[in-house]
Amino acid sequence: MSASLEAIAEKRGIKYFLISYTDLFGVQRAKLVPAQAIDKMAEDGAGFAGFATWLDMSPADPDVFAKPDPDSLIQLPWKPEVGWLAADPWMNGQPVAHAPRNTLKRLVAEAAAKGYVVKTGVECEFFLTTPDGRAVCDQADRQMKPCYDQSALMRQYDIITEIADAMLVLGWKPYQSDHEDANGQFEMNWAFDDALLTADRHAFFKYMARSIAEKHGLRATFMPKPFIDLTGSGCHAHVSLWKGETNVFEDPAGELGISALGYQFLGGIMHSAEALTAIFNPTVNSYKRINAPRTTSGATWAPNAITYTGNNRTHLIRIPEGNRFEIRLADGAANPYLLQAGIIAAGLDGLDNERDPGQRLDINMYTEGHTVEGTKRLPLNLLDALRALGASDVMKERLGAVVPSYLKLKGEEWNAYSRHLTDWERENTLDC
Ligand code: GLU
Ligand code: MG
Ligand code: MG
Repeated sequence: MSASLEAIAEKRGIKYFLISYTDLFGVQRAKLVPAQAIDKMAEDGAGFAGFATWLDMSPADPDVFAKPDPDSLIQLPWKPEVGWLAADPWMNGQPVAHAPRNTLKRLVAEAAAKGYVVKTGVECEFFLTTPDGRAVCDQADRQMKPCYDQSALMRQYDIITEIADAMLVLGWKPYQSDHEDANGQFEMNWAFDDALLTADRHAFFKYMARSIAEKHGLRATFMPKPFIDLTGSGCHAHVSLWKGETNVFEDPAGELGISALGYQFLGGIMHSAEALTAIFNPTVNSYKRINAPRTTSGATWAPNAITYTGNNRTHLIRIPEGNRFEIRLADGAANPYLLQAGIIAAGLDGLDNERDPGQRLDINMYTEGHTVEGTKRLPLNLLDALRALGASDVMKERLGAVVPSYLKLKGEEWNAYSRHLTDWERENTLDC
C-alpha cells in the first residue's frame, strides 16, 4: 500500500487509528492516534511500556514501538471513523523476537522460502452471556440438545447479523452462522485465507464480536469452558498447503484424497501435539474443555487424545474432505498469531522430517478410545502442557524466542492459579 495512511483516512472518512498489537496472552493493546498524526507514528511506531502488557520484559526496558502494518487496515464497520491497524512490536531498532505477530511472520517467510503458502480458516465459537459472564444471555435457551436451534439463533438475530454484515462489508466472505452445541453458544464462519491474514481477521473478529455484543447490552466470550456442564468453545483450524494456485494436500489417489505431503504435514502436527496444546489451549480453564467426553448434550466434540480420522468429530484431527484437514484442538482463548505459528512450525517439521502420522482411527474416541493401545492422551492441565512445550526441541527450534518467554509468563500464571483457594477445596478439606 503506497498511499499515506493520512491520505487514506481523508478519502475514507477515518478520524482515528487504533495501532494495535497482540501480546503473548492474546490481549490486544492499542493506542488511538488522530489521522493527522498517523504517518509519522506509522514510521516511528507507537510507544508502549512492554512490561505493562504480557510481553516478556522488565519495567527497566526501553519503550516498545508498535509499527502498524498498513496492509492490515480494517475500518470499524460499527464505528467507521476508526481504522484498526495490526502492529508489530519493535525494541532497540529490532522486531521483538518473542512477539506473536513477529513470530508468525517469520514462520510464514520460512514456508515461503520452501515455496509454500499455508492457508487456514478458523471457526470461532463463543457464548453470548449476561454482562457479568455468569449466565447465558437467553433464559429461554434451555434445550438439552440446542445445536442449530433455529429459534434461539433467531432471538440473537440483531447481534449475529450485525457481525455478519460487518464481515460482508469488509470483504471477508462470511458464509454461515449457527447456534452451537451449548445453550447461548454461536459460531460464525468466513472464508479461509493466508495464515497471517486469517490471524489478523481472527484477532479483529474477537474484538468485533465483543464490541457489538456490548453495544447490545450483552457479553461475547471466547472463554474455553465458561459453564462446566455445557460444551466448551473451540477454535477449529482448517489447514491446506499451497504452491501457487495448487493445493498440494489434494490427491484423488491418496487415502481420503490427501497427498503424501499432506500426511507428512499432518504427521508433524501429531508429533508436536502435546507441546502445541500449551499454545492452542493456553489457560487453566482450557483443560476443562478437552479430555471431557460428555456434557448434558451427550458429547463435548472436543478431543481427548492425539489421533486422526476421516469425517468423525471425536478426534484431534478430522479429514472432512480431500483438500484439507481440521485441527480440533485449539480453543477460544488461543492467541490468533501463535495458533497459526504453531501450525506452520509443526507442519514444516513434518515435511522436513517426513513425519508419519501412523494409522488413522475410525472409532468413537469418547466411548472406545480407551480400548486402543498406544494412543497418546492430551495433557491434563496447563502445567503438563507447558512441560511438554519445554521438552519439545521441534517447538523450541522452530518457534524460537517465543517459547522461553511464553513458558516464563504462563508458568507465572500457573503459579498464581495454584495459590488460589477454591470453594471445592474448603468443602472437601475442612473436615479432613
Ligand atoms: N464446541 C466444540 C469444541 O469445543 C466443537 C463443536 C463443533 O464440532 O463445531 O471443540
Ligand atoms: Mg463448531
Ligand atoms: Mg469444525
